Amino acid sequence: MKLRLILAAAALSLVACSPPSTTTPAEPATEPAAAPAAPAPVSTDVHRFKIGALDAIALKDGDITVPNDGKTVGVGQPPAAVSALLAAAGQPTDKVEFSIQPLLVRTGNRIVLFDTGAGKADFAVAGRLVASLRAAEVDPAEVTDIFISHSHPDHVGGLVDAKGALVFPNATIHVSAVEWASMKSNAEQASLVHAIAPKVAAFQPGESIAPGVTAVAIYGHTSGHSGAEIVSQGERLLYIGDTAHHSIISVQRPDWKIAFDEDAPKAQAARRAMLQKAADEDLRVYAVHFPFPGLGRVRKQGADFVWIPEQRRGVPG
Ligand SMILES: [Zn+2]
Repeated sequence: MKLRLILAAAALSLVACSPPSTTTPAEPATEPAAAPAAPAPVSTDVHRFKIGALDAIALKDGDITVPNDGKTVGVGQPPAAVSALLAAAGQPTDKVEFSIQPLLVRTGNRIVLFDTGAGKADFAVAGRLVASLRAAEVDPAEVTDIFISHSHPDHVGGLVDAKGALVFPNATIHVSAVEWASMKSNAEQASLVHAIAPKVAAFQPGESIAPGVTAVAIYGHTSGHSGAEIVSQGERLLYIGDTAHHSIISVQRPDWKIAFDEDAPKAQAARRAMLQKAADEDLRVYAVHFPFPGLGRVRKQGADFVWIPEQRRGVPG
């Protein structure tokens, strides 16, 4: 698959530039009122927050770094234009960085994981999801449901271990019917499909996945790519999957082509529509690939948009 080739080639050249895994006890919990008497283990790979009454946790899995060479983001644009956007945001201009952070939400008696990261992959410095879960005091066997936004390897890579065994043995795996059909026809994913098939529950757009969690069709990035709206006590969070990949480039120039999108024009239209909706409705957004923990809001900026990350207690900026 084209995407995998791009990712693999990019990672081979730049994987050494990505930061190593770090786990330092630096960040206090964001919900001090709910903190237990004995302090829970904390990690920079874990960010707890609330969606109304629901407990949610951003879980760092790793990072993908690609060169800023016009082959991945801003495809067809002058390289200087991409560099100018990055520089204006205080970012390095020689590379483009993407975080990977699946989301966990406790709702009712369910523990729902949104995507599973890359696992051990050659295109990413990743595979920390289970360690992040354990740091958050969640055992993989406790996860009851997994929402898969789409079938790319940085989202389904954590479903099985190196031996092909299910990492979350008790979880129902929710994936859109369109995406599941695509996976089953992809010879490269035959072993993964075989492993997860008994656990898969294919959904239609608008279907409820768990209490307060509704699937939203955002097709284009892949044929059946989906987001999820999570609602509790009037608070809403939109899990956007890969509707937008980069917090600067994808938001400030949503019409620029990104090589990861399988149907670029459709994905670009879906991206702009999502950003417009988020800005119009002041939606809280969870973005899997934006800088950790990927939480924030979208504001209109001229004809395009800008990402406003949520401030994290104890973390500058
Ligand atoms: Zn992705």
